[in-house]
Amino acid sequence: MSETYVCARCEATVEREFAVKSLIRTCAECGEHGRFVHKSLLESLTAIPDEERPEEWDGMSLDDQFMDAVKRGLIEITRG
Ligand SMILES: [Zn+2]
Repeated sequence: MSETYVCARCEATVEREFAVKSLIRTCAECGEHGRFVHKSLLESLTAIPDEERPEEWDGMSLDDQFMDAVKRGLIEITRG
């Protein structure tokens, strides 16, 4: 079963055969060498209620939102 990962910069998606929380790769779409977030985590991000979001949330990149949510314990990264 393949897993879907979403580019934190441009939201292009890639499929991989393994399941991790995020991976670092160079995006074929935007050329950025950066984070791809597992689709399920992206769904966790969008599920964060307004009151848990910092004021600047909407202006933040996906990558920043992701790191912010991890830092504040709203979503968890476990290796593998
Ligand atoms: Zn990209």
